[in-house]
Amino acid sequence: MEAIKEKLKIKQELILNYSHVNSDLEEKNFIELKENGELLAGFCFNCKKLFFPILLNCVFCGIPIKELKKVESSGVLQSYTLLYLNKFAERLIEPLVLGLIKLKGTYGTFYHYLNIPLDFLKINLEIKAVFKEKEKRKGDITDIKYFILEG
Ligand SMILES: [Zn+2]
Repeated sequence: MEAIKEKLKIKQELILNYSHVNSDLEEKNFIELKENGELLAGFCFNCKKLFFPILLNCVFCGIPIKELKKVESSGVLQSYTLLYLNKFAERLIEPLVLGLIKLKGTYGTFYHYLNIPLDFLKINLEIKAVFKEKEKRKGDITDIKYFILEG
């Protein structure tokens, strides 16, 4: 047990040559999120299906996604996990809860934090996004603070 504790405390620095450029549609979504606290999903006009996160191409017919539509900021919890260590491998008193979320009416899932009592956690919970105050938003997915129980 002591050996494991020591291993968890080894600090490493990883240098990653990595950058991510948002697609034009992702950029529009993040601007909408920042300015208006709304979420946009990619829309395939051929299949009439919505994708969140936004995809470059429709997974059903393959054509490029070129349109966005507003979607509800509520969804369904597909899965979740409890995080007992922070990014420095230090033990947390209260675990962080990370959920795999599917927005209602869309295809696709993404991870985000949940602010739901542990006793209530279960798959298929209906949840909704809580946005940061407008002046604190940066134009990225962290403009959603977390998801809470809907209703
Ligand atoms: Zn399609």
